[in-house]
Amino acid sequence: MAGSPDFDLYRPSEEHDMLRDAVRSLAEAKIAPYAAAVDEEARFPQEALEALVANDLQAIHVPEAYGGAGADALATVIVIEEVARVCASSSLIPAVNKLGSLPVILSGSEDLKKKYMTPLAKGEGMFSYCLSEPDAGSDAAGMKTKAVRDGDYWVLNGVKRWITNAGVSEYYTVMAVTDPAKRSKGISAFVVEKSDEGVSFGAPEKKLGIKGSPTREVYLDNVRIPADRMIGEEGTGFATAMKTLDHTRITIAAQALGIAQGALDYAKGYVQERKQFGKPIGDFQGVQFMLADMAMKLEAARQLTYAAAAKSERVSAGGEQEGLTFFGAAAKCYASDAAMEITTDAVQLLGGYGYTRDYPVERMMRDAKITQIYEGTNQVQRIVMARNLP
Ligand SMILES: Cc1cc2nc3c(=O)[nH]c(=O)nc-3n(C[C@H](O)[C@H](O)[C@H](O)COP(=O)(O)OP(=O)(O)OC[C@H]3O[C@@H](n4cnc5c(N)ncnc54)[C@H](O)[C@@H]3O)c2cc1C
Repeated sequence: MAGSPDFDLYRPSEEHDMLRDAVRSLAEAKIAPYAAAVDEEARFPQEALEALVANDLQAIHVPEAYGGAGADALATVIVIEEVARVCASSSLIPAVNKLGSLPVILSGSEDLKKKYMTPLAKGEGMFSYCLSEPDAGSDAAGMKTKAVRDGDYWVLNGVKRWITNAGVSEYYTVMAVTDPAKRSKGISAFVVEKSDEGVSFGAPEKKLGIKGSPTREVYLDNVRIPADRMIGEEGTGFATAMKTLDHTRITIAAQALGIAQGALDYAKGYVQERKQFGKPIGDFQGVQFMLADMAMKLEAARQLTYAAAAKSERVSAGGEQEGLTFFGAAAKCYASDAAMEITTDAVQLLGGYGYTRDYPVERMMRDAKITQIYEGTNQVQRIVMARNLP
C-alpha cells in the first residue's frame, strides 16, 4: 500500500535486543559509576569513551567499508538510548560522532570517507559538527564564517558556537559561506582538523546539564586547508547539513528516551521503598497514575523514534526521502518534550530527596532540557513538521 509505514522495522530484531542487553550491562558497569562525578565536576567522561571504544560502540554507524560495524539507524538509537539511561553526557560520544561524520558519509568523496571514517571507526579520533554561530542559531543559514578559495586551498575565517565535544574531537565538519550572494546555496561544508594551524577553542560553557559534554566555541583564524577537504560540491553544504539533521534528530530522540527511562526506572524503585502513612508511597493511586502516565508517554515516544529510525534506514539504503524529515523532527520534538515531563515527574515522586544531588533524578531533569534545544529547538521542529506534513 502506497505510503504505508514499515511495520516490520518498528520492532527491534533479536540482534537489536542482544545489542541492548550488551550495552545496558556495559553502561551499568563502566559508565553509570562515574555519571554523578562527571556532572558534579563538569568533566569529560573519559571512562565512558574508553569503555565505548573498547567495545567498538563509539561510532557504530560507520559503514563496514571503512572498518566500522555498519550498524543500522535503530542499532545506533539503541546504543545512545542505553548510554543516556545512565549518563546523558556520555551518550553524546556516539551521538555527536554520528552528527559530525554523517555529512562526510552522505556527501563526501570516497577519499574523504576513507581518510576520516577509518580513524573514527577505530576510536582514534572523534567528530564534531560546526553549524551554529553566535548570531546564527535557529537561522543557521545566516552564518558569517567564510571560506575563500586560494589556488589548491580554502582559507576559513569565523567563529562557530556551542560546538559539542570541541577540543576533544580531532575532526570538525564546518559549514562556511563560499558565495555570500546565494545565502543557503552559497554555503559549503569542509573537514577541519584540530591540528590545522589557526584552529583554537573557547572556554567550556557553564551549562545547566550535560555538564560532562564539553561545549566550546571553535575559532577559525586563517585556517588553510587543501581543496579536497570540501565535502561534496561547492554550495551544497547547507543542504548536506540539513539532510544530516533529518537522520541525527532521531539520535537526540534516543537520548531523550534514555534519560527518561533512567528517571522512570529510578522512580519505580523508589516508590516501593519509601514509606509514608504506614505504607509504600507506590501503593497510593495518585502515585500509580503518575507512573502510568510517565510510562505511557515514554512508550509513545519510543514507538515514534523507532518508526523514524526505520525511515532513516530506508533512506540510507537508497530509498525515498519521503517522510524522514517529518518523522525525524516529530521524534525529536515528542521524545524531548516527553523526557522533560517524565524527568520532572520523577523528581516530584522523590519529593524533597528528588531535589537534591544525592539522587540522580535532578541530574536527569537538567540533562533532559537540552534535548528540547539542540539540533534545532522544538519550535524549529514544529516549523519543519508544518512544512513537511505527512
Ligand atoms: C549544549 C549545547 C550543545 C550544542 N551543540 C551544537 C553542536 O555540536 N553543533 C552546532 O552546530 N550547534 C550546537 N548547538 C546549538 C543549538 O543547535 C542552538 O543553540 C539552537 O539551534 C538554537 O539556537 P540559538 O541558541 O541561537 O537560539 P535562537 O535561535 O536565538 O532562539 C531563541 C528562541 O527563539 C525561538 N525561535 C527562533 N526562531 C523562531 C521562529 N522562527 N519561530 C518560533 N520560535 C523561534 C527558539 O525556538 C528559541 O526558543 C548546541 C547548543 C547547546 C546549548
